[in-house]
Amino acid sequence: MKVVLSQIDTKEALNKLYTACRTCYNAGKPEDMYATVDEIPQENKVKLLSAVIRSGHHSVLEHQTLTFFISGVSRALTHQLVRHRIASYSQQSQRYCEFKDGKFDYVIPNKIQNNPEALQIFSDLMRQDAMAYDKLISLGLPAEDARSVLPQACCSNIVVTMNIRSFMHFCNERLCTCAQLEIRQLANEMAKAAGDMLPFLKPYFVPKCEMLGYCNEPGKRSCHRRPTFEELTGKKSDN
Ligand SMILES: Cc1cc2nc3c(=O)[nH]c(=O)nc-3n(C[C@H](O)[C@H](O)[C@H](O)COP(=O)(O)OP(=O)(O)OC[C@H]3O[C@@H](n4cnc5c(N)ncnc54)[C@H](O)[C@@H]3O)c2cc1C
Repeated sequence: MKVVLSQIDTKEALNKLYTACRTCYNAGKPEDMYATVDEIPQENKVKLLSAVIRSGHHSVLEHQTLTFFISGVSRALTHQLVRHRIASYSQQSQRYCEFKDGKFDYVIPNKIQNNPEALQIFSDLMRQDAMAYDKLISLGLPAEDARSVLPQACCSNIVVTMNIRSFMHFCNERLCTCAQLEIRQLANEMAKAAGDMLPFLKPYFVPKCEMLGYCNEPGKRSCHRRPTFEELTGKKSDN
């Protein structure tokens, strides 16, 4: 898996988000605040933005987007990824991109990789899939039909653009240990890249329990890095 984040001007991103926050609480015009934003110390800008985020007014975060170039992830992962609807996606097409000689890359899940018997079953099936795909292509079928025999493990490439609010939500959900390992690893890479580029937002690119202060998953699914709802309140959760 490889994740590259499209370059963002860190200072400009903070200036823009700060001006959006300040516009809510100031009688002045946003264009005037933006024109003089460089005069305001960085720590003051971060302080206001952090206060606004902590109080749950997350719509200001929609003014900045992040674009990630992602390769070498499974189709099983991209199917989970695109469930995050507040985002834009461009994905390598299995209709227009044909796998030459039936050779496709695939992701081997860790637990299969670590189990020799499972790995044998998995590898045999990948070989059969490749042969079936190639045979269908040689029979003159278009890639869009031949792809029906390809597995969920088949590698894909995708470009994702999310605004910061949506990205924060993605991190909160997919950095949780309840998320499947591959998408959790992807979320980790994305969170790291975004946190490095926008360090003032790093504290929010975390699992949901870090934002909530407790775990809202059922006890048996919880990793217990934070107390569960039940442990915190003594009340039974509904799930
Ligand atoms: C651990 C885990 C297990 C999962 N298991 C399953 C599963 O078994 N089956 C399954 O189908 N999915 C499953 N999912 C996917 C999950 O149900 C969501 O589809 C996915 O996490 C995207 O979340 P979202 O809808 O909050 O995000 P987005 O689509 O990005 O939406 C962000 C937010 O916008 C708001 N929003 C967006 N669209 C609407 C709308 N139409 N109406 C009202 N508000 C809206 C909501 O507040 C939402 O939280 C799982 C996800 C996780 C993290």
